[in-house]
Amino acid sequence: MRQLTYLKKNTLAWWDVPDPVLQLPTDVIVRPLAAARCDGDKVFLFNDVTRPIKLGMALHYLDPVNRDLLGHDPYKGPFAVGHECVGEVYACGEEVKNFKRGDKVIVPWAISCGSCAHCHLGLTSKCLDAGDTLLSAFGFGKGMGMWGGMVSDFIRVPYADQLLVAIPEGVDPLSVASASDNIPDGWRTVAPYLKRRPQAPVLIVGGGAESIGLYAVAIAIAMGSSKVDYVDHQVQRLEIAERLSAIAIEVPKAKRAAWYRQHAPRIKGNYPISVDASAHADGLRYAIRSLAPGGTCTCVGYYFQKSTGIPLMQMFANDSTLHTGISHPRATLDEVLALIASKRFKPEAITTLLASWDDAEQAYLERTTKVVVHRSSAFESVGLA
Ligand SMILES: [Zn+2]
Ligand SMILES: [Zn+2]
Repeated sequence: MRQLTYLKKNTLAWWDVPDPVLQLPTDVIVRPLAAARCDGDKVFLFNDVTRPIKLGMALHYLDPVNRDLLGHDPYKGPFAVGHECVGEVYACGEEVKNFKRGDKVIVPWAISCGSCAHCHLGLTSKCLDAGDTLLSAFGFGKGMGMWGGMVSDFIRVPYADQLLVAIPEGVDPLSVASASDNIPDGWRTVAPYLKRRPQAPVLIVGGGAESIGLYAVAIAIAMGSSKVDYVDHQVQRLEIAERLSAIAIEVPKAKRAAWYRQHAPRIKGNYPISVDASAHADGLRYAIRSLAPGGTCTCVGYYFQKSTGIPLMQMFANDSTLHTGISHPRATLDEVLALIASKRFKPEAITTLLASWDDAEQAYLERTTKVVVHRSSAFESVGLA
């Protein structure tokens, strides 16, 4: 089969590799129909990071946990890319009960069994029975287990009855290509808090986690936030935020750090809910300092360094909560899909490049907010799109 393979910065190639096969009676083989580029993939797609990360850890500037997370050679090619996809069930192990050939499904980015203690707590991406690596996921190479990548003709999915999620009737599979990771990642930054504080104003600091920040905008508005302020330096994302009815606040890129510092309130801010999607330490501190008393900030960006200067004394004075962590899509997808099925939240509004599957080699390297590649079903004479 064909598998999109990451070789090095700005270089992907289609490789011919053996088809995956059913190994356990609970496995399913999925044929991906649409795959989305995760915001985090841009770290290795556009940068040679293996040596800098290793050097940074040796010099004690970067946190040593990066090695536990990413392995001894973080993001070193070649490996199969892609950990966001929807697909069709192609073959089922004999114990699979919930799915049959032809069913359209979402495949979460991380492997989870559905029955261990962590899975029961909703920490599905930290499943205790997913493999030998700290995280077990598609599309990251051997640092997260050899599960293959989702821009491949076929993938093997373990624990299929528990891990796969059916696409609800009436939901276009293309619109949920990113439901494996970034859409639920955006959801968890605002939805639980808006349920507790209906209509609360929300601040979203955009940047490195490009699409996640915008999914958060769309979800906050869909859930009735009275005001969503979106701060960013990049025009394409600001325009999307504005189209979604957020108030777009442009910050000059070169003066970002100074702007965040100047605008960070010293005593208390105005937002019960804030989101740091900037992947910029000054943006993170600004999101925290902008919280109203008792507010919660969720941070979805990567911070490889040891210290980010989190303003603990200000958080103490203001009763602030900071939440960060990986996303657990399997635990939240039912609620996320219900919001999408209601038509109040349209994730496709964030897709900026919809390309043919055969063009993934180039499309995955486009400098744009959100890339989705797609192809036709093997079972229907009329295509998916
Ligand atoms: Zn991801
Ligand atoms: Zn588990």
